[in-house]
Amino acid sequence: MKIGKTSNFYVKYHCRHKGVTGSSALLSVHWPNGRILHFLVDAGAAQGRENVDYYNSFFPFDAEKLSFIILTHGHHDHQGLLPTVVRQGFYNPIYTHYATANLMGISLYDSCQIKDQMTDLKLCSKNEVEKTLDLVVGCTTKKIIKPDKNIRVVFYTNGHLVGAVLTLVVITCPGEDDINLIFSGDYKDNNIFFNVETPPIQTRKLPISAFFIESTYGDVDSTDQKFAKCLKENTVKALNEGKTIIYPAFAQGRYQEILYDIKMWKKNGIIPQNIPVYADGGTSQDFTMMYHYTDLGIKKIMKDFIPKNTHFVTRTKERQSYRKQIMENSNPKIIIAPGGMGSYGPIQNYIDYYISRNDALIHFLGYCSPDSMGYKLINTPVGEKISYNGHEHIKLCDVLKTAEKTSHAQRNKLLNLIQYFPTVNSIVINHGEEKVMQKFREYLLDHIDLPKEKIMIASPEMEYRIESSGIVDKYPSNLKTVF
Ligand SMILES: [Zn+2]
Repeated sequence: MKIGKTSNFYVKYHCRHKGVTGSSALLSVHWPNGRILHFLVDAGAAQGRENVDYYNSFFPFDAEKLSFIILTHGHHDHQGLLPTVVRQGFYNPIYTHYATANLMGISLYDSCQIKDQMTDLKLCSKNEVEKTLDLVVGCTTKKIIKPDKNIRVVFYTNGHLVGAVLTLVVITCPGEDDINLIFSGDYKDNNIFFNVETPPIQTRKLPISAFFIESTYGDVDSTDQKFAKCLKENTVKALNEGKTIIYPAFAQGRYQEILYDIKMWKKNGIIPQNIPVYADGGTSQDFTMMYHYTDLGIKKIMKDFIPKNTHFVTRTKERQSYRKQIMENSNPKIIIAPGGMGSYGPIQNYIDYYISRNDALIHFLGYCSPDSMGYKLINTPVGEKISYNGHEHIKLCDVLKTAEKTSHAQRNKLLNLIQYFPTVNSIVINHGEEKVMQKFREYLLDHIDLPKEKIMIASPEMEYRIESSGIVDKYPSNLKTVF
């Protein structure tokens, strides 16, 4: 289907992921003289129900032919398959923010332990991670990166995570208008650890050929009830009732944010200074130390975010007896442990213990997918049976959740981001549940003056042809025609 005039200078966009995880896109640049260049934006591992058809086992691309990779941030669902691409022969630069370059090894080495549910094989080896890290080029924001004589890449700050970027890719061809692409990556417009700046006016003045926008919260405004602040009140109430509070948190980002929150609650007398805080998880402790000691672009005053009376749970083989000691002491306390959805990681030890106690509050800090233990815990009424990790329990603890600490922008904030750029020729929505992406598309059509065929939803089944003037064509995907 042709939807515009076409030239011989264009980009083909092929999105590999279907839903929210396993983010990866292949872009192939075609110049009129027949030259073709391929690059990837992210190479993420799929999680849970999205890991189908051996998604995590191989990349259906000829990795040797990729000229470079852009990594938008260091989450597993954006970087987890980089070692796989390297195993398949990729040997060129991986460009990312220098903070991600400094941090990504922690989680990549950690993902050596993850077994692919489909093949029962480990995702990667230590040697492959080492080779991958050798290719990483850490970059600062607002500086031009030139991976090719006809391509400029510029990173801008993005509040999703320390080290996350918003990316501009400018592709040039003598005698033709530039093709300008923006990739939002996972996006948020603020972050407590650093300032999120809007791109400078010279960048915003560029006509954007295609704006690739995430859509995690493409169906709700930031005023939606589920983002209402309740964490502080819930925490204070539970502590006043003499309860132990357990926060499941992903190892990087929210884990450090919650430590900062507790520090401030203590400092401002909202909770007693002497409430002990137990911070579990080797990987999250590594991230926490890196946030504290390494240059990651974090504000100076935010480097000191550890609350008074914090104890880091040992990572030696004595950790089980240390955890037992913590749990058997019934005084009120706060425990933070990795495993944000309650299904994996050290958090399992605590949930298993506290699930059948009425002096505990398990407080989820983010989204729990329907196949997660967190979802099951939230939706099981108090007093009913629940099986957790093969153990049968009667659920007696309180379980609460909040979305107030989300690291994704809601649809009105995403719209704001797009509207920073007065000239956007087309929009490609990606990274969201199918229904949410459709709702987000309708929302954008209502708020942005673009014809229907210029606001599209990315799908692995479909390829888009993008020229300077935006999307001009789409057709069923066939990777064989890409390589
Ligand atoms: Zn992310």
